[in-house]
Amino acid sequence: MAKDLICGMNINEKTCKITSQYQGKTYFFCSPNCKENFENDPSKYVD
Ligand SMILES: [Zn+2]
Repeated sequence: MAKDLICGMNINEKTCKITSQYQGKTYFFCSPNCKENFENDPSKYVD
């Protein structure tokens, strides 16, 4: 399981189609909205 960094929801990487690449890693999101929030300011959510 991966975690949606925006809302904290658990995400199944195998079925999740909403992803974003940041610094060579793939991040998974529950909705396009969460993905958009992440992409607006990734450094806020990733150490
Ligand atoms: Zn979410």
